[in-house]
Amino acid sequence: MVSVSLSWHKLRKRIHLLCFLAFLALPFLNVVRFDIPKERFYFAGYQLWISEFAIVFFALMFLMFLVVASSVFYGRVFCGYMCPQMIFSEASVALETWLRKRIAKSVPQWSPPARQRVARGLFYAVLSAASVLLAFIFICYFVEPHDLWHRLASLDIHTAAGISGAAVTLVAFLDFALVRQRFCTTVCPYGYLQGLLGDLNTLLVHYRDETHECIDCKKCVRVCPMGIDIRQSPFQIECIHCAECIDACGEIMARLKKPNLIHYAWGEKGELLSDTSPRPWYRRVGLRDGKRVVVLMVLLFYASGLFVALGMRRAVLVQIAPVRATLYRIGGDGRVYNQFRYRIANRGGQPGAVTFAIQQLPGAALVMTPNPVRVRPGESAAGDFEISRPPGRGEELVSHFTILTNTAPAGESDQVPMTFLAPAEDK
Ligand code: SF4
Ligand code: SF4
Repeated sequence: MVSVSLSWHKLRKRIHLLCFLAFLALPFLNVVRFDIPKERFYFAGYQLWISEFAIVFFALMFLMFLVVASSVFYGRVFCGYMCPQMIFSEASVALETWLRKRIAKSVPQWSPPARQRVARGLFYAVLSAASVLLAFIFICYFVEPHDLWHRLASLDIHTAAGISGAAVTLVAFLDFALVRQRFCTTVCPYGYLQGLLGDLNTLLVHYRDETHECIDCKKCVRVCPMGIDIRQSPFQIECIHCAECIDACGEIMARLKKPNLIHYAWGEKGELLSDTSPRPWYRRVGLRDGKRVVVLMVLLFYASGLFVALGMRRAVLVQIAPVRATLYRIGGDGRVYNQFRYRIANRGGQPGAVTFAIQQLPGAALVMTPNPVRVRPGESAAGDFEISRPPGRGEELVSHFTILTNTAPAGESDQVPMTFLAPAEDK
């Protein structure tokens, strides 16, 4: 039991590093990004247009229920292990402490106030550079990274992107210099939300000392990044379930050859996470009651909806509609003409060329220039074309036919049912 609890700090710091790298990489790889100027939502490498409501809806609902499910099952695991605010706050505290100790060691002959001033100055200098980097990455979630880089390189503080860059840099600096973990207990709504989502089966950090073994060394209090005493209650709003106190108590109690007094546990009365007694696998992973089954089902529903919607998605969307302002016109050549309008949206990452053709309308001709229509990635094209057929053939007033579209290089083809109108005397 002790060996398990001693590993939480290391595990947490490794996850922090992975999350930091993910935070840096996600906007560049378009894994999750809202491009405000282009009105695009990037998800898992797909460039979704705001008009693609179904996919955007399923993606947002899936992400929201992922957070809900993690809170119901595992409490504030996101806060302790993955939240950027927590990661950068802890990094800022660690950097400041390291600089203070390093300077005290390097120049012991200086007075304490002088050492303090130099340490603070160095800390602010490093934090300023880090704030610029953080602000840059943060804004990359909303503005195209290359575009943002050009604005930064030209010291642009006149446009919206330039102004927001300067503002986010200032906020990041003040946040990680002054606010830090206080943000979690004052501004962030997630801690309060957790109080609503958690229940008697949610994973939490719990102090259990039925036999009164605690020696009141207060090491669990000293290591707590939130400055609380877990012995008071497992339901304190400040507790982010980071497990630093589990490591601390485990270390102290191991020296006394006694078991750890603080644990991860499934609720206040449930078994410990480290309990090795035989249990079904689903209880081990937190699937402990009907509520959790429902939450998991909802999550799977949105995940499947998203999967299907992405699977059915076409990179190049072609829409065709008849223009019925005039039902038809008779051309100088005596043929009957109907007008149609197309709109093409290239939502993929490579150029597309859409070729139009007609089928099931004898004697008909397509009057369209250009054909194929070429559309660059991320752009739209719209235009009109006509279809003509000879007069006086005795056909019906309304003829049903099909417009065929073929998109290169994807090789996607489509058949659009359409109607052709002719004057009554043509019958
Ligand atoms: S009480 Fe323990 S788990 Fe909660 S925040 Fe403090 S150190 Fe982390
Ligand atoms: S670290 Fe353990 S022994 Fe020390 S005060 Fe906290 S709970 Fe008690």
